[in-house]
Amino acid sequence: MATINIRRDVKDSFYRYQMPKLQSKIEGKGNGIKTVIPNMTDVAKALGRPPLYLTKFFGFELGAQTTIVADMDRYIVNGAHDAAKLQDLLDVFIRRFVLCASCLNPETELSINKKDQTITYDCKACGYRGEIDGRHKLTGVIVKNPPAKKSHKHKKASGHGEEDDAAEDELTRRIRKEAAELPTAETINEEDWAVDTSEEAVRARVQELEGNIENVLSLNDSRGEDDEADARYDEFGQWLELRLPMSDVDIYKKMKEENIHHKSKAIAVLVQRIIRPPFVGQFEKHAALFKKLCNSDKHERAILGGYERLIESTKLQHLDSVSKVLLEIYESDLVSEGTLEKWGAKPSKKYVSRETSKKIQESARPFLNWLAEASDESESEDE
Ligand SMILES: [Zn+2]
Repeated sequence: MATINIRRDVKDSFYRYQMPKLQSKIEGKGNGIKTVIPNMTDVAKALGRPPLYLTKFFGFELGAQTTIVADMDRYIVNGAHDAAKLQDLLDVFIRRFVLCASCLNPETELSINKKDQTITYDCKACGYRGEIDGRHKLTGVIVKNPPAKKSHKHKKASGHGEEDDAAEDELTRRIRKEAAELPTAETINEEDWAVDTSEEAVRARVQELEGNIENVLSLNDSRGEDDEADARYDEFGQWLELRLPMSDVDIYKKMKEENIHHKSKAIAVLVQRIIRPPFVGQFEKHAALFKKLCNSDKHERAILGGYERLIESTKLQHLDSVSKVLLEIYESDLVSEGTLEKWGAKPSKKYVSRETSKKIQESARPFLNWLAEASDESESEDE
C-alpha cells in the first residue's frame, strides 16, 4: 500500500506520521456520477478521525451530497472528483482538524465541550491543548457525533492499557455504528436499502436510481418532479438536521429561497426531519407550515409518504398511534378525505416497502373505517 506523509509539506521520507494515499473511483454516469473512496477507513484510521468526518468534510467543501453505508464500508461523494483533488482537500482537513497548532504533530485527540459546544484537542506529542476553529460546518457534525474515546495508532500508551488489533477493531466498529445511526440523509438512503444491503442489492438500487435520472433527461422533464435527482432534497434534509430545532418560519424561508417549497420530495423530507416520535400532536403543531407548502394531492400524499418513512425508520415501533395521527392530519386539514381514502385503498411502495405499507394500513383501519362512515353520513345528509 502506497503511503505518504500525513503532512505533505514535510519532504522527509523518514517522517514518522504516514497515511495511505487516498484512492478514488468514479462510478455511474450523467447526473448519477459519484466518487467512491475505497480506502476511506484506512485513511481515517491513520488520522485518528472517524471516516464520517472526512466524508462530510469533502461533501461540504465540494458542495456535494455524500452517502455513507458504513456496514459495507462505502464512502461516497456525489460528482466526479479525482484522487489528487481529494488529497488536496484532505490537506486542508488535516490542517484544520488534525494537526496540533503548537507542534504540528497529528497526534491529537478531540473532545467536545458540552457546555458551549466547542471542540478542543489534546496534543499527545507536546501536551498543548488547543481549540478547533468553530466556523467550519463540519464542527456541527463533530459535535453531533463525538469521537469515540480511544487512543489511535500513533499514540503512545497513555496509561489506559495497550493498543492491540482487537481494540482498533472495536473502535472502528463503534465509529461505524455511530455513523450508521446518524439521523441524516445518509440514513434515509440506508433505510431505503435496509431490506437487503448485500452489495448486489445496493448496486441494483443505484442502477435503478441512475435509470430514473436518465428517464428524466430523455423525457426532458416531462415526467415531473418525482423523477428529479434527489440531491438537493437530501441537502435540504442535511441542512435542516444541522440546525434543528428551528422555527417553522425560518424553515419556510429556506425552502422558498431554494425554490423547493412546492416540491413534494421536499415535503416528505421535511416530515421525516421535524416530526418526532411518538408523532402524536406533531402534525398539528406544524400545521401552518405544511398548509403553506401543500397545494395539490401530490403534496398531501408526500405528507403521508414522509410519515410512512418515519414509521419504517423507527422499526415499526409507532404503529399503535397510526389511526390517531391520521385523524390529527385530517382534522388539521393537511390531507383531504379523498387523498386519505385513495391512500388507504391499497398498499403502495411509493415511499416504503409494500410490506411496511400493508402494516401501516392495517393499523390505519380504525381511522379509515371512521372516515368511510363519516363520508357516508355526509352524503346522506346531502340528499
Ligand atoms: Zn503539539
